[in-house]
Amino acid sequence: MAVSGKPPYDPSNIFARILRGEIPCKRVAEDEHALAFHDIAPQAPVHVLVIPKGSYVSAADFHAEAPAEAIAGFWRAVGRIARELGLEEQGYRILSNMGEDAGQEVGHFHVHLFGGRRLGRMVP
Ligand code: AMP
Repeated sequence: MAVSGKPPYDPSNIFARILRGEIPCKRVAEDEHALAFHDIAPQAPVHVLVIPKGSYVSAADFHAEAPAEAIAGFWRAVGRIARELGLEEQGYRILSNMGEDAGQEVGHFHVHLFGGRRLGRMVP
């Protein structure tokens, strides 16, 4: 269920279709809580998206509505994937756009993992 006043989850969104195997992705890792794949338009040498398996529009929905085990499993997967990608030594950035005004284009909660170079100062 979406947060009141927010758009409902649309099961035809592109990440839902990737999760169902209807369209391909460049998969990085997968477990019961998360799927990680390379962004189609990378903004850094490493630009990976990590999505939960459940149907949540945004970070707000996910953290309000997902079972605690799913939230913990998701964030553990994010950390593990960053480590496996070799991002820990240099550092990396985790970002999630929430809502249209923040630039969220796909209505399935996702985090961006950016790394592989010195990242610019983050400005709104
Ligand atoms: P956001 O603007 O935070 O919703 O991010 C959506 C991201 O999804 C953008 O960085 C897109 O480049 C990326 N994207 C869109 N379609 C695909 C796709 N089929 N496979 C991988 N990444 C995608």
